[in-house]
Amino acid sequence: MLEAQGGLCAICRAAPAVHVDHDHSSGIVRALLCFNCNGGLGQFRDDPVVLQRAVFYLQHHAQEQAIARLVEASAAEADAASRPGEPPVGSQRRPAARGTSTRSTGRTSGARRREQAGEGDA
Ligand SMILES: [Zn+2]
Repeated sequence: MLEAQGGLCAICRAAPAVHVDHDHSSGIVRALLCFNCNGGLGQFRDDPVVLQRAVFYLQHHAQEQAIARLVEASAAEADAASRPGEPPVGSQRRPAARGTSTRSTGRTSGARRREQAGEGDA
């Protein structure tokens, strides 16, 4: 089975397969998983419905954030256009002229959350 999976986890296909995952109700072996994916299934109680909700949740919030960035960029453009005396974007603009920036860095703590989710073992 390890050879058939190329030595990699059957879910993420990136990390080494180190756990023999089995259906807890029937005991049937499903596949070999990495530490994090095996733990992740356990954290989600091996429930496909809950996992699908988690997928929807992540996609939904990624879309919300993308829309918020578009709205913010559009508002900044409109703001710049409403100030004819201001130099165009990209020219020598004083950083303090518009107060503190609320622009996101684009980083999220998602990577950390994913790591934490895999800490438990199934
Ligand atoms: Zn994995």
